Amino acid sequence: MKTVMLEENKRLRKEQWRRFLAFQGLSVEAYDSYAKKALSRPWEELKASQKRGRLLSEQFLHCYGSHPYHEGKSYPVAWRSLFMPTEIIYAMGLMPFTLEMFAAQVSMMGRAVKCLEEAEENGFAPDLCSFVKAAAGAMLLDILPSPDVILTSTHLCDPSAKLAEFASAKYNRPEFVLDVPYGAWSRQEGEGGASDLEEAIDYVAEQLVGMAAFISEVTGAKLELEKLIEAVRNSNEAGRWLARGNELAYYSDRPLLRGSKDMDHAANLMQTWGARELVDIFRSRYQEIEAAAAVECEPSTRPRIVWAHLRPYYRNSLLDYIEERADIVGSIVNYCYWDELDAGDPFRAVARRTVLNPAYTPLEQRVELYARVIRPGDGIIAFYPKSCRHFHCAGRMETEKFRTYGLPMLVIDGDCVDDRGDDFMVVKTRIDRFLKELCTASPEGVRKS
Ligand code: SF4
Repeated sequence: MKTVMLEENKRLRKEQWRRFLAFQGLSVEAYDSYAKKALSRPWEELKASQKRGRLLSEQFLHCYGSHPYHEGKSYPVAWRSLFMPTEIIYAMGLMPFTLEMFAAQVSMMGRAVKCLEEAEENGFAPDLCSFVKAAAGAMLLDILPSPDVILTSTHLCDPSAKLAEFASAKYNRPEFVLDVPYGAWSRQEGEGGASDLEEAIDYVAEQLVGMAAFISEVTGAKLELEKLIEAVRNSNEAGRWLARGNELAYYSDRPLLRGSKDMDHAANLMQTWGARELVDIFRSRYQEIEAAAAVECEPSTRPRIVWAHLRPYYRNSLLDYIEERADIVGSIVNYCYWDELDAGDPFRAVARRTVLNPAYTPLEQRVELYARVIRPGDGIIAFYPKSCRHFHCAGRMETEKFRTYGLPMLVIDGDCVDDRGDDFMVVKTRIDRFLKELCTASPEGVRKS
């Protein structure tokens, strides 16, 4: 029965691939020749951001069983929500597919509204997170690769477990929900101290053991502990390069990377933790930052910005406008908030990084955590989707709290995927005023607009 379902999914994914390409006005043949050319460039010649793009593209093609250089090759496909850890998925030989990333992708292609309208016409609430709503619309259009298993975590994104329930019913595939306790940092530093945190980690680690057994049961894939240890080692090595790059770039007196592009690594939520290629991606990123630091240059006098949450993925001029006037020197989504993980205890290692996500902790605590690493005088620009219960709802209180640490904050009420309410001129006025404030309030008093 298991094998029959997996085989049926493979067949369906071929049809869904055709449908997905037709959705963009492309044929399989035209896309194949484009992809062959795009993927023929040697990996070593690529920049870090291109390597990242290459890895994600290849994984995407594998999810549909349509990699032009690997005909006939297919992986069991694990749908995951944005914050579900991926080391176990790699260790078991599955291919991750992140619904919210797909939503960002259709937004970049200028096709998100079609998915959003499909969802809205079928009863999904207009004020639902547009990442989730676009993914639901894509399911209804049947352009996603059928899942073999559906994995969702409860933290941060309120609607993702509901979306998984919908997906499970639509594709008749079982789902696993990882329950992540709220506020692990507070547990670590609050009344119960370290033992409370350890308890939270144990709780999640036990569920991850159960998740591996669940994946085995529904896909037949087996977990070899050695492979999981290797995946955690990969994450450790990649994390070290990420942290070194962040440190060098952020504490420099001039921009060493293009902040608007760098935030696309989105390290806190990406699906590549555990993959060997990630080590090379973050090593290359570090080397590029190091090379930029070696070039002699005057210190920048422009306002420094730390970005919070993600960016709008549809065509727009917001980030270009800001970068013409300020330096985006870091992004919270790339913050490496965890220490080296214990690869010898891999389930607990993955659980530890999962529960310690600082965004999933009470507001006062998370602001205090970020304030430990953000330089006073830097401005925070948060691009919060209006439909995001977690981030947008807290925006005003966060702004007040960050200001008590000498960190001015601007919350842009936006949407990452849905451009229907985009009004750049309104946002522009607020950005101008904020950058002006940063210039006058700069602790060094040297930054000019
Ligand atoms: S906007 Fe909020 S709910 Fe939606 S994917 Fe981002 S964090 Fe999750």
